[in-house]
Amino acid sequence: MPEGTGACGINCLVCGLFRQGKCGPCAPGDHPQAQQKLATQLRLLGGTCPILQCAAQRGIGHCSADCDLYPCPRYLAGPYPLSKGYLEMQMRRRGQQQAPAPSGGPAGTPPDKPPRLH
Ligand code: SF4
Ligand code: SF4
Repeated sequence: MPEGTGACGINCLVCGLFRQGKCGPCAPGDHPQAQQKLATQLRLLGGTCPILQCAAQRGIGHCSADCDLYPCPRYLAGPYPLSKGYLEMQMRRRGQQQAPAPSGGPAGTPPDKPPRLH
């Protein structure tokens, strides 16, 4: 997989913002570039993407392909990066029960106020 494809599956290499030099590429969670992206987010935005952060900590390349917990509460809490309809389709086709988005609290749930990512 190209390193420009984020843990969430978004391919930054075909994003106009990347092509215009306005945004740096993301990376699989198990790629060294993920650490660079997280450091840049922290420096510029004051926080990190909870999905990329989690994938990096767990050594997961791409959540959808590599993590048994996908789509986890970090995705279901939304609204970024994938739509509710898309996630529900993923759950339906994986034979998973559709769960309501969590309200936070236990480990593994997103922070109360996710940072702006881009
Ligand atoms: S949402 Fe997170 S994992 Fe996906 S491209 Fe953006 S920073 Fe990377
Ligand atoms: S728990 Fe969620 S964010 Fe973390 S690696 Fe798995 S699917 Fe990705």
